[in-house]
Amino acid sequence: MNKKSKLHMNTQEFRKEGYKVIDWIADYYDNIEEYPVLSKVKPGEIRNNLPKNPPQKGREFDDILKDMDLMMPGITHWQSPNFHAFFPCSNSGPAILGDLISTGIAVNGMNWITSPSATEVESHVLDWMVNALNLPDQFLTSSLGGGVIQDTASSSSLVAMIAAREKITLGETNKTGCKQNLTVYTSSQSHSSIEKAAKIAGIGTNNFRIIDIDENYAMNANHLLDTIKQDINKGFIPTLVSATVGTTSSTAIDPVDQIGKICKKYNIWLHVDSAMAGPAAICPEFRFVNDGLEFADSYTFNPHKWMLTNFDCNIFYVKDKKYLLNALSILPEYLKNKATEKNDVIDYRDWGIPLGRRFRSLKLWNVINYYGINGIQEYIRTDMRITQELKSWIEADENFEILAPTPLTLICFKYKANDDFNEKLLRKMNASGKMYMSHTKLNGKFAIRFSIGTSTSTKDHVKSTWRRIQKCAIELKG
Ligand code: PLP
Repeated sequence: MNKKSKLHMNTQEFRKEGYKVIDWIADYYDNIEEYPVLSKVKPGEIRNNLPKNPPQKGREFDDILKDMDLMMPGITHWQSPNFHAFFPCSNSGPAILGDLISTGIAVNGMNWITSPSATEVESHVLDWMVNALNLPDQFLTSSLGGGVIQDTASSSSLVAMIAAREKITLGETNKTGCKQNLTVYTSSQSHSSIEKAAKIAGIGTNNFRIIDIDENYAMNANHLLDTIKQDINKGFIPTLVSATVGTTSSTAIDPVDQIGKICKKYNIWLHVDSAMAGPAAICPEFRFVNDGLEFADSYTFNPHKWMLTNFDCNIFYVKDKKYLLNALSILPEYLKNKATEKNDVIDYRDWGIPLGRRFRSLKLWNVINYYGINGIQEYIRTDMRITQELKSWIEADENFEILAPTPLTLICFKYKANDDFNEKLLRKMNASGKMYMSHTKLNGKFAIRFSIGTSTSTKDHVKSTWRRIQKCAIELKG
């Protein structure tokens, strides 16, 4: 962006158009409830309305901004107060503005030297989070371990698996490689990213063990132990167990403490995926989500789900960074510099897959500083309270039933009828444009998921949505 330029947008124009963009975003939030929550377009509809060829001559920015009118019909409104599908992608003004500054200064913080603040703010904020969530000290930068921001929990779980693999192969081959007999373990309720990580890390689906669950959809630690023993007897090398705190289907909580003891006994890497649940620990009364974390070799959660920090922002902690760095560090000539060579600094390029890194910690910095710990606690507590109220409303209606425990902010429920009816009910609810919910299967049965956490959503919104669901069910029943 030059001060004066014919080719580029100059700073004067940027200022003028930038204000309009901010206005556009603010208007979007003011009017967000007017859109159908779930986009109604058909496949290809948006693309058919776009110009066939790019313009030969550049256009006025004003006109480009108007193009959003072509795209808005194809937007599903994740920030709508009536968005209750999947898990939330919670957002906030300070996070958006932090992201904007990060985009504006546009650094690539791949190494400390390429923008020292990008690295040091990241380390600092992640140490803050260890203390704010009361996580084990093993994750502090001052320990053997530390934290890093990744794009998503999926990337973190992959990196955990690569580090666990490295721990096994290290010393034997002295270079990263995959042996054919490494095995990993997770429950049938874990997120698909764990299986994907096993595929990418070369463990393979044959050596991916799915552990049974108990009546609350949490991992059965006895079955885990039996499976590990059987594998050892057959010559396999148990390498990693991935436990979940807050499963995607029903927010079940695996017994991390019991699992951790097993992992310790058999020297297996324990990875804990707390993608949604992790931020709950900012409130002392919800620190049950941290139980057993002292056994964890790695831990991950998503501020982009439930901590007001716009997508993408995932936090990954590791207890001993040696294996991670051994697996992922490569120092080509063109990246050599004094700080790196003297081992004085953290180079986060060695902590993940990509070389290039955005200054993502800035949006987290903004969120923590704007809300303060107290503000984030209030947000989490409000969501927990609304969920319990919703639960009481569902329980009070004899036509509906709740299908799983509700330790956090997700309610799995159904109308007391068969799966076919409930599928139709969900379709009708979503087609109304007034809400968006997703589904899962629990014990093979269809369940509707009502997930709380979008930062625009209040108790009144949730109450109106519940009334609409009741009405949809009555209409469908006929
Ligand atoms: N782990 C759990 C428990 C999840 O619920 C999810 C997504 O909902 C993920 C991992 C994947 O998260 P991401 O999109 O950050 O990879």
